[in-house]
Order: sequence, then structure tokens, then C-alpha cells
Amino acid sequence: MTEFPSKEQLKKECGWKEIPKAGVITRAASALENKTGSWRAFRPVVDEKKCIDCAFCVAFCPDNAIHFENGKIGKVDLDYCKGCGICSQVCPVKAITMHEESEFKGGVMMPEKSKTVPLTGNYAIAEAMRQINPHVVAAYPITPQSGIVEKYASFVANGKVETEMVKVESEHSAMSACVGASMAGARAMTATCSAGLALMWEIVGVASGLRCPIVMPVANRALSAPLNIHCDHSDSMGARDLGWVQIYNETAQEAYEAVFLALRLAEHKEVQLPVMVCEDGFITSHCVQNVRIFDDAVMRKFAGERKPEFMLLDKKKPITVGAIELQNYYFETKRQQEEAMENALRLYPQAGRELSKITGSSYPYFEEYGMDDADAVIVTMSSAAGTTKAVVDRLRKKGKKVGLLKLRLFRPFPYRAVADALKGVKTVGVLDRSFSFGAHAPLFSEVRNSLYELSRRPGLQSYVFGLGGRDLLESDVEGVFGELLGGRTSTEARYPGLR
Ligand code: SF4
Ligand code: SF4
Repeated sequence: MTEFPSKEQLKKECGWKEIPKAGVITRAASALENKTGSWRAFRPVVDEKKCIDCAFCVAFCPDNAIHFENGKIGKVDLDYCKGCGICSQVCPVKAITMHEESEFKGGVMMPEKSKTVPLTGNYAIAEAMRQINPHVVAAYPITPQSGIVEKYASFVANGKVETEMVKVESEHSAMSACVGASMAGARAMTATCSAGLALMWEIVGVASGLRCPIVMPVANRALSAPLNIHCDHSDSMGARDLGWVQIYNETAQEAYEAVFLALRLAEHKEVQLPVMVCEDGFITSHCVQNVRIFDDAVMRKFAGERKPEFMLLDKKKPITVGAIELQNYYFETKRQQEEAMENALRLYPQAGRELSKITGSSYPYFEEYGMDDADAVIVTMSSAAGTTKAVVDRLRKKGKKVGLLKLRLFRPFPYRAVADALKGVKTVGVLDRSFSFGAHAPLFSEVRNSLYELSRRPGLQSYVFGLGGRDLLESDVEGVFGELLGGRTSTEARYPGLR
């Protein structure tokens, strides 16, 4: 029986001063993201001449990334390898060596000061807020968002931030406090979901109407009744026309980075709009994933200081806020708000490029996965995209031409870009995690609108799934792809997973 090398052996043989804790890379020089969403700083390379086919590496790889084919070691599956180096350590003939990702084509340089730590989506968002250190955070915890403001409260209590934390009695007051602070010139944030977002509804529209660049994470949750605390997108989708930018995130990493992206976009002088950063309640908000947290000083510098053009506390430039506008000016004010949304669509890629210089990630309107030559494409958002990617991988291996378009920016909606991406596809299925009662589901409606301009439109099918947190299974997604590949579309919505 083979024994795993002791820590002392590993230190001696690998030259490590300390064995990193599971999942923690404290000094990554370069990294590349793989299909699991993890970052690999080092890549194993097998010297086939030295290999004696003992299969120790296969047995010990925690990610099942090395396989034997016909009694011989096959290629390391880099889509799943996290670069932990265990295979290299257990190889008795030193046939596996670890190499920095930057040595390979496509390797991406990471900033020297970053660390990968296991975090929930909520804690990852709280980390981003800590690094931003806003002047004001108004807190009213509501499941499954609570972890964000609870963690932030600990940062305040422990002196990690200089934020004025306003503990309010309701979400209506939370948003009111943020609007007041924002109009006074402060950088203000809060977080919410579901009934909390519904309760702050009136002031959500005030925040955008007054052009407050508030950033608000939303841990998407179903709306009552019946009472349900689990994930769907009914809450933020209901608020889609209240004048907020909305960014949807698949992973905790995306949610962390999106907070900075949201801040940069919200405070741009041609935008000045509030932004929701959405993560799936309990799925992303509570599951622990590896999250790369960038250096505090670097991120704080990126966040910079808010520089409002007008603010209530500027006595030299006095302004009136919240004045009544009737037939005389209301229309013009609302048109300006729409213009700001158009600017947000134009400036979103620029904000992404600036953030990308630090993170190495890209921030397109949507991620295209397996879209080259795809006949059948699923369009969806947030964590359902992860399930879909796994199915795309499996079906692609079987030669099926399937792909995924994962939308990140839902408001403003990138109609032209979506149409361009889908124009060569035969059949498109749109997976919505909410209803728009009495109408087409929200994401489906927008995709349908996008395709109207095309002379040859793909076949289109609406699917509503996962309400109240019901799991979207890989078999559900496979079923959807089966229908799309078979060209079986209809004008009626379908409901994967519905009993
Ligand atoms: S580096 Fe780690 S994850 Fe990658 S193949 Fe080796 S043991 Fe598996
Ligand atoms: S552990 Fe080393 S010798 Fe054994 S199969 Fe893997 S690479 Fe070859």
C-alpha cells in the first residue's frame, strides 16, 4: 500500500518552507482560470521517458485530472487541474515537474500580491466592500443576504474600516439612508434581497431618479407568497425597470470583482446611476469557493475617492434635492436618466478594461462558452451557467454542437451584441429563473427583442426553471439541449424540473 509523503518529506523534496493550507495560494506569480472556476498558478508537465506507469499520480490527484489510457498515463486534463502539485510530489521517479503558467502560451500574469482563500459569495462581497471602505453602509440583514452586512459589521467593530454603519429598522430606511448619504456626497452601500428589496421599492426608484451611484449587492431570493427563502430572480427582475444597472454573477469570484466594476461604472460622471450586483441566494451566497482576493492597497487605489459634481454638503455650490417636477421638467429628467443608461452600456467595457489590468479577468456583456460553430445555445445567467457549462463539456465530447451565452449585464441590455453573438445559431433556448406573470419571462423577452433585427432568426424556446430554489439538474439541461438540437421549439414556455 502506498503512503502519502509526510509534511517533512514534502518540505524537503519540494523545497517548500511551509505546506500551504488547502485551497490557499499565498504567493501566486501567474495563473490561468480553468473550467472549475479555480485559478492554476502552476502546470504539471509529465516526462514520458521517465514515467514508469505506476499510476500514483492518477490515484493521488484530488481533481481526477490525470487519466490512464491503455495502461499509459494520458494528458493532464488542464480544464480540471488546479496545479496543486501533489502528482509531482508522489511521483516516485520525478517524472512530473511543475511550471509557472506564464511559461505557456495563454498564461496570464497575476499581480504579485493576491491570495486565494475559501469564501462564500457573501463574504467575498463583504471583502470587496472592506477594500472599498465606503463612508456609509446602511444595514438591514435579510436571508440569504445577511452574511454580507454581518461580516461588514465585524469589519466596522474591529476597526478594519472607517465606515459609518447605520443600523436601520427596515430596508425602506436602509435605502433612504443611502440616498441621503449619497446626496450629501458620501459613498454609500447596502445589500438586500427578496422582501427587503420589495420593501425598499419606493426609494429604489428615488435612488436612480436622484442619480445616486449606490452599489447594492443582491443575494437573489424568491418573493412571497408562498414564503420561500431560496433562490430565484423574481426580486431583482421585478426591479429591472427602476433605473438601476444590474450585473449578474455566476461565482463568488465574479461577485467580488463585480463590486469594483459596479463602483467604477456607477460613479462615472456620464453615468451616475445605482448598480445591483446579483448573486444566487444560498447557491453562490453561501457555498464556499476559492476566491482570489487582490491586494488591499491596489483595490483601494482602484476604488479611489468619490468625486461628486454636486452635493448637499458643498455650501459653495448649493443645490436643491427632491424638488417636485410636474409637466414642466419631469419628462426631461427621465430622458436624462435613460441617456445615463445608454452611457452605462457604452462605458461598461471601459470600466471592465480598467479592472482587468488588476485582475486579469475580462468583463464582457456576456461570456460565450462553446459558442464557436454551435447549433444549439442556451442563454442564461448566474449559477445556472455553471451547470450548463458542465453539460456543454460533456455533450461537446460526444460531438454535439452546443454552447452557452452567459449574460452578465442585464440592465442596460446589450441588444446588438446579443444579436451578433446568436446570429449564426440554429436554435436558442433561454432559461429564466423568474416569471413575468402574464408576459414572456424577462430574459427571454430581451433575447427575443435582440433577434428581431436579424434577417435569419434562430428558432427560440423559453424555459422557466428553478423557482424557489429548485435545483436545475444536469439532466434538465441535457433535456433542453436535446430539444434544441432536435429543433423542437414552440411558442409556449417549458418548465424543466416542474412536477
Ligand atoms: S497538479 Fe494537482 S490537480 Fe493538477 S494533475 Fe497534479 S495532482 Fe492533479
Ligand atoms: S506517478 Fe510518475 S511514474 Fe507514476 S504514472 Fe505518474 S508520472 Fe508516471
